[in-house]
Amino acid sequence: MMEKPIIQIPRSAKLHRIGLRCLACKKNFAWRTRQLLLNIGTVERKQHGKELTFGEFIVAGHVICPHCGAEDRYELSGWQSIIVALALLWMRWIPPGPQNWLQAVKMGAGDGRMMHPFELRISYEQRVAAQPRKADLRLHFANTLRTIGWMDEAIVQYQQTLALAPRETEALINLAALLTQRDENEAALAHLRTLAAIKPKNKTQREMVAIAQEILAGDLRLDELEIGNPQLRRRS
Ligand SMILES: [Zn+2]
Repeated sequence: MMEKPIIQIPRSAKLHRIGLRCLACKKNFAWRTRQLLLNIGTVERKQHGKELTFGEFIVAGHVICPHCGAEDRYELSGWQSIIVALALLWMRWIPPGPQNWLQAVKMGAGDGRMMHPFELRISYEQRVAAQPRKADLRLHFANTLRTIGWMDEAIVQYQQTLALAPRETEALINLAALLTQRDENEAALAHLRTLAAIKPKNKTQREMVAIAQEILAGDLRLDELEIGNPQLRRRS
């Protein structure tokens, strides 16, 4: 089966306040996040009356209820649902920029099947556990974790991907981007130096290698290595 990376989303630079309701203790709380993802696949499945394990909204990063400590068990609060509904209406006329706080996403397993990002995460987690030495599985697992904002876990998986395949271009560039976000610039540059020395085999690799070379040459700033889709950030 041909594995394709899931959709990659640039992240909003600002933190936004989102109203959530805990599914465990049923209390409302405010949460600060860079992005709220609307999973289109879940919306479509809901319209067809399917039973769903996970909701259509995903807050980037881990959410911990301040009242009861429940982790990643939430829905939008009543007010937040209204705000999101209005924002979605608005987005029909004015499409949002890639860094908007609200992003509609479609995610799939790479074989055409639509999957909820959390289902995808669980699926990759199981497959990686079953085949721990398959670098491409780890890479897709890492990309999934990064997309839902689980950055600590994503970094670990990128590092383990590179332990298995030290010249994996996508892992090198994505790990460098994550490390840059954490101001670990030296570590990021080390990965970019590895990347810059790779002989690319296809167009995607060529673009990634070129970005690394431009950053090392000082033609592109390290913080322009936007998380998610570095190609989008290239100056033409
Ligand atoms: Zn709670």
